[in-house]
Amino acid sequence: KQAYFKKVKFVGSFLEAPTRLELPQFVFCGRSNVGKSSLINAILNQKIAKVSKTPGKTTTINVFLVDEKFYLVDLPGYGFAKRSKSMVNAWQKPIENYLLNANMLRLIFLLIDTKISIMPSDEIFLNWLKYNNLSTVIVLTKIDKASQSHLAKTKKAIETLNIKYIKTSSTYHKGIDKLAQLIEQACDI
Ligand code: GDP
Repeated sequence: KQAYFKKVKFVGSFLEAPTRLELPQFVFCGRSNVGKSSLINAILNQKIAKVSKTPGKTTTINVFLVDEKFYLVDLPGYGFAKRSKSMVNAWQKPIENYLLNANMLRLIFLLIDTKISIMPSDEIFLNWLKYNNLSTVIVLTKIDKASQSHLAKTKKAIETLNIKYIKTSSTYHKGIDKLAQLIEQACDI
């Protein structure tokens, strides 16, 4: 396993993430259980984000400072069926507020489980991101678990959206290099 970044500092957990930061920010988001913690751990090469078996537990925004160069912002998962409407609203407002006001937001990585493909909650969020002109890259997760037909179906759904995507597996460390590269490149802009 290659280490793409050297130093990771946990900045904190926030109900409302700080928008005024002096370094580029990269956001990771997606439905609960999509494999977000595993992916963050793979990129940062350490078990810093919790991998949970109980979906939808994290409701705070976790911020990490990487190599004194950029912030990795880990948003709580959405689309958790057992959440009430008020919980959904509680998710939405601070997140929307953060995404619309973050001063050095570079890229939003929206994770999609390759096998599950795009769900209505993803579509709503993707449309909102597009409407607000926020640069988004789709990260297909757990490709090792998806069959060729799953992959073909998911790719087709994404291609209609006209958004860049990359395929990853945290378990087999696939595509993590591409993700790290995207971050590095966007840092230097
Ligand atoms: P989160 O809720 O989005 O943070 O997702 P987690 O990282 O906690 O992962 C949810 C479940 O998917 C866990 O059981 C992980 O072990 C599993 N998982 C995550 N990434 C992969 C992957 O690349 N391949 C496979 N096969 N399983 C994965």
